[in-house]
Amino acid sequence: MTEKLYDMDPHIAEFEATVLSCEKTEDETYAVILDRTAFFPEEGGQGCDEGMLANQKILHVAIDKENVLTHFLTSPLTVGDTVTGKVNYSLRFDRMQQHTGEHILSGLIHNRFGFHNVGFHLSNDYTTFDTSGTLSDEEIRTLEADANKVVFSNLKVRAFYPKKEELETLSYRSKMEIDGPVRLVEIPGIDLCACCAPHVDCTGQIGMIKIVDYKNHRGGMRLTILCGMRALAYSTANERTLSYLSRELSVPFERIEEAFCRLKEETLLKQSRINELQEKLLQCRIDSLPSPSESNRAILFVDSMDMKAVRNIVNHLTESYRDYCAIFSGSDECGYNFIIGAGCEGDCNPLSLRLREIVFAKCGGNAKMIQGSVNASKDRLFEIFEI
Ligand SMILES: [Zn+2]
Repeated sequence: MTEKLYDMDPHIAEFEATVLSCEKTEDETYAVILDRTAFFPEEGGQGCDEGMLANQKILHVAIDKENVLTHFLTSPLTVGDTVTGKVNYSLRFDRMQQHTGEHILSGLIHNRFGFHNVGFHLSNDYTTFDTSGTLSDEEIRTLEADANKVVFSNLKVRAFYPKKEELETLSYRSKMEIDGPVRLVEIPGIDLCACCAPHVDCTGQIGMIKIVDYKNHRGGMRLTILCGMRALAYSTANERTLSYLSRELSVPFERIEEAFCRLKEETLLKQSRINELQEKLLQCRIDSLPSPSESNRAILFVDSMDMKAVRNIVNHLTESYRDYCAIFSGSDECGYNFIIGAGCEGDCNPLSLRLREIVFAKCGGNAKMIQGSVNASKDRLFEIFEI
């Protein structure tokens, strides 16, 4: 069993230890066991600490059932040597802030609603945890405010191993039947939970606790949280976005929502005006086509148009033109979507074949109507229809 230096003092960033064993692994790395370590292993939904051991970057730290920790390195170490380990303390501290923040929220949720924490994941970007029941928007916001009040109270966080008899009398979260001593983390009056990870000393060290997302998940909820500098970075990024919008919309922060709604309404109105004008323009184009008495077919190229509207026009024109009617919507640069309908004497199948073989159009349909897309110029498409 490796002595876990982080267990009682999570602030040890540098330590010396003796190499007890070093073995080559199947993937060409070296598994090193020390007599003691300050590196927290990957455990309980949290990744392992990062840092250097004997001037080598630590690749991974694992723990087994016997509480032996293994450090993985690229080069071997000599058994019996005394080596120095340096933990990436800023990352460690950041994770402690996230993890203790999660304990506060989970503790408050458990006390108020009786829900259990049924999932936890602490990544380098965010922390998620799952609750066994659901909370309303209002309950979430109250919870967030109260969790921050616990931060302001600067309560002492205590990690300890109670004696077996004492443990049996205690009520705590994450109760599991484990052989050997159980480590409890206590935030007085807020939470008592079995946990193996390093935590901050006082809740004030967490900084802000921000719930940035929450959604229903497997009958309960998944909450995403950010604490400390992560919450500050989130707030800064949001402020940057709001500043940009505020400048672009020429309104103060508090009127961005109102300005956005107005802009959205204006866009909808403009779009409906564009649709009206497009229809008028199309009608002019249709009027300029050779009449059905002069030609059996009609071919039209239009700017990007709603394909439902195109289909309606094609259906309408095929009543007059005996052979076929084709409408291509788009441009030479971006390609065209098209619909071709057969008149009373027409057949779309030969056209479909020509379009697929000559300009590699993607299309489907039947003898009466085909629909598809093609990347070819207007001139090239006209040539196909002239064959
Ligand atoms: Zn924990």
